[in-house]
Amino acid sequence: DSSHLIACDSDAIKVFVRVRPLTQGMGLTTDGDQSLCLSVTSPNTIRLFSKPQPRIFTYDHVADMDTTQEAVFSCVAKNIVESCMNGYNGTIFAYGQTGSGKTFTMLGPSELDNFTDQLRGVIPRSFEYLFFLINREVERSQQSKSFLCKCSFIEIYNEQIYDLLDTASASLFVRENIKKDVFVEGAVEKFVVSAAEAYQVLSLGWRNRRVASTSMNRESSRSHAVFTMTLESKESLNEVVNIRTSQLNLVDLAGSERQKDTEGSRLKEASCINRSLMCLGQVIMALVDVTHGKSRHICYRDSKLTFLLRDSLGGNAKTYIIANVHPGSKCFGETQSTLQFAQRAK
Ligand code: ADP
Ligand code: MG
Repeated sequence: DSSHLIACDSDAIKVFVRVRPLTQGMGLTTDGDQSLCLSVTSPNTIRLFSKPQPRIFTYDHVADMDTTQEAVFSCVAKNIVESCMNGYNGTIFAYGQTGSGKTFTMLGPSELDNFTDQLRGVIPRSFEYLFFLINREVERSQQSKSFLCKCSFIEIYNEQIYDLLDTASASLFVRENIKKDVFVEGAVEKFVVSAAEAYQVLSLGWRNRRVASTSMNRESSRSHAVFTMTLESKESLNEVVNIRTSQLNLVDLAGSERQKDTEGSRLKEASCINRSLMCLGQVIMALVDVTHGKSRHICYRDSKLTFLLRDSLGGNAKTYIIANVHPGSKCFGETQSTLQFAQRAK
């Protein structure tokens, strides 16, 4: 059984496009070329300066270059964190070419330090908000509710899964348990009781990812990083104990650019990235059809990424795709292909 037939909530999948500033930060340089390949024409449309005609793309939300990290978090993540508290799974993906701002959006400016910085990204803000909600719930329920939180952090590179919290471990496998839930067998799960502890786990994994990229030659722009927070809530009401589990997945995808230096081991990387991003796109398109009332089979098993996230994509789960684009004329081709990918997800 390689596919899954499911129902899908109408606002289950949303697409947010974020345009990064032209020159701020490093990454893609424009060599002083200030010309743009697009403009943001409303809070949900982008005009791409394609020839011979400009093209208009429409999304759930478009964030221009001046959008703050706080605004991105409020629009994209708040709702998903809240529905996680209510027992639903959620996933946030950052999609886009290398240098388009995926890591900036998810983590912040420098990948590790200073998670209290006002430039901190979606992931640290989600931790803070989640623990704010947890503490409020515990207090309100006068301790009749309690929560358990655990984190795992893995990397998918060349269709192999590596544990970012245990660099000594060999590659891992995705399995289904007796309840038919998908899980990564043997992945380290760290219990956390505060946002600060969750950051520590995140930064440990992030450091390990950097180390692996030099020592193991697992170039981080060519792998998907998946941070998963599993939340278990327990409520005791008149001798009955009600337990609910949900997952929040925060995913920094591999760069979506067409790979150029495709020889030898780089060729394998390129085909793995293309395949898994294409598969993600197909799963999402199929889910969009389902939300429009069509019945579709969804091929989660075609890549590690979609299989791993199966229970968090579709059904009652909420998914947000943040498509990051660079507005410089030099990036026209990749920006167009990201806008198209994101459009298909609508
Ligand atoms: P990616 O992860 O997609 O390869 P990064 O997030 O590393 O891209 O972004 C590349 C560079 O651009 C980094 O130096 C980052 O800090 C900077 N940058 C990206 N987006 C923004 C933004 N919205 N505001 C300020 N700097 C940004
Ligand atoms: Mg990055």
